[in-house]
Amino acid sequence: MAYILEKDQQGKECLFEAGTGKNYEKESLLLYRDDVAVVLLNRFPYANGHLLLAPSRHLGDINDLLPEESAALFNMIRESVAILKKHKNPDGFNIGLNLGTVAGAGHPDHLHFHVVPRWHGDHNFMTVLAEVRTIPEHIENTFDQLLPDFQKLLHSKGKNEQ
Ligand SMILES: [Zn+2]
Repeated sequence: MAYILEKDQQGKECLFEAGTGKNYEKESLLLYRDDVAVVLLNRFPYANGHLLLAPSRHLGDINDLLPEESAALFNMIRESVAILKKHKNPDGFNIGLNLGTVAGAGHPDHLHFHVVPRWHGDHNFMTVLAEVRTIPEHIENTFDQLLPDFQKLLHSKGKNEQ
């Protein structure tokens, strides 16, 4: 978290604006983007497959979310859980939202949910929350594994809208 905060304070662009205009971008670990929701693979994960889900709009206050954005985000959590179940076979999930720096938000200006797959015998969530943990397993491999299903999801939504 300290590392992420430091990057933010150096005035880099918002993490969730990475790859703006694209529906995915490997370099920024952007798995999904549509008009309302963004999904990133966390570069500093607590577990392999740790996802960050945010509204496409840059906002930090949960009360600024429109009803349709709230619904789209919750639906994206549901879809993300399904995709992680399929590829990572976890025993459970932690799904959470840190509001404000005091609550541990590394990017307090842009609301985002954490979706963290869990396995029996892995580290205690609250312990791993306290430190930045880079997973030695290759994040890029996980990206390649998950991307086709997020692309499928994007294309199925496109069809529904037509
Ligand atoms: Zn933003």
